[in-house]
Amino acid sequence: MGNILDLSEALWKGETDTYAHHCFGPPYGLERVADGTWFYKGFANTILRETVGGLVIVDPGAFFDCQIKFDKIRKHTSDRLNTAIFTHGHTDHVFGVDLYADEARLRDWPMPRVIAHEAMPARFLRYRESHGWNEIINGRQFMGGSGRPEWPVSFYDPDITYRKKLDVDVGGVKVLLRHARGETDDHTWVFFPDTRVLCTGDLFIYAVPNAGNPQKVQRYCMEWAIALREMAALGPEVLAPGHGFLILGADRVARALTETADLLESLHEQTIAAMNRGASLDEVIHSVKAPDALLKRPYLKPIYDEPEFIVRNIWRLYGGWYDGSPSHLKPAPEKDQAIEVARLAGGAETLARRAEELLEAGDFRLACHLADWAHLAAPDNPEVRKTAGRIYGKRAEAETSTMAMGIYLWAAGTMGELRAEGVKDGPVIRLQSGREKMV
Ligand SMILES: [Zn+2]
Repeated sequence: MGNILDLSEALWKGETDTYAHHCFGPPYGLERVADGTWFYKGFANTILRETVGGLVIVDPGAFFDCQIKFDKIRKHTSDRLNTAIFTHGHTDHVFGVDLYADEARLRDWPMPRVIAHEAMPARFLRYRESHGWNEIINGRQFMGGSGRPEWPVSFYDPDITYRKKLDVDVGGVKVLLRHARGETDDHTWVFFPDTRVLCTGDLFIYAVPNAGNPQKVQRYCMEWAIALREMAALGPEVLAPGHGFLILGADRVARALTETADLLESLHEQTIAAMNRGASLDEVIHSVKAPDALLKRPYLKPIYDEPEFIVRNIWRLYGGWYDGSPSHLKPAPEKDQAIEVARLAGGAETLARRAEELLEAGDFRLACHLADWAHLAAPDNPEVRKTAGRIYGKRAEAETSTMAMGIYLWAAGTMGELRAEGVKDGPVIRLQSGREKMV
């Protein structure tokens, strides 16, 4: 077996974990996973299927690595690209087809076709319209606000779109495409009946599903769970996820898919039950808990997104933006609130000192509220800034998910001009020893 297949096996058996081998992280490379089928483990994954009519490629590349993937695939095969399938319109999945199109023009081959869900072009339009916003939030999500923000401006529109399902034949190989709203509104999962290879897109990423993302648009928890059960019903033997490692063997694949559905359904059921009792968002996010046993599964650790954020997304889908706290309906500016709280407390420095005490006591949540107030009330006070930055730096170090780490690192940097100790530049995916205890 190759490095990626070996690690996939070790992860399943619990010999290592996704804190050491994050779903976005290395090793990267191309390995054979079934007849005529190759899996490129990258930041996002690419699946290659060889047919006598040319290649089928699921998710050719990201805007930042499509050339690397193209070169690697071209070392393996010189067959023309027949069909590319974009599982969804996220920028780590939909780049690279132009490289194959250039090649087709040069060699006088038929042009490759791209198939995707019909909602994808509207997503690309939105990405162009909200270019600056997307640069900022993605820089914050993945890099804690460090590094150079980047967001593409041009996209390869699909040639063929579909609404609910589409079956295609490429060189005698049947390919089933199925739509489900989940991480996005334009998601497609792909199944090859002959090899029983399932390409989930980001409906499975070897981690807690990205169903909560604090800085992105709506996710669809229940439709997601239904899709996972539909996939399981087809009896796939290879699960090739959108990110992270492979799962091989029908029993294992079924278990991973159904338990991920279980997790989403549990969060959904608890959240809706609380909403039906008239709970506020505050009550909901502090009372709904993901089943502990599921979070311990190798493929469901909160290394990227978190159950608490999923709960908020379920609230947003059913409940809108009002959180049930009356002062939040038409609030005073946060700065005015902070100045008033600081006045009552005896100054911003007092708030900052108390924030440090709370941090030392391990109450990160409360410490951060006080740090926010102190910083907002006295943004030019160097001691207050330093304390606020330090608190967010420490909090980032204590978190398990890329999304929380990214936002807290960004806060540490903007408030205190600090980097959290032990956190280097680059995607916030590295882990520290002992983080497993936080799960
Ligand atoms: Zn992705």
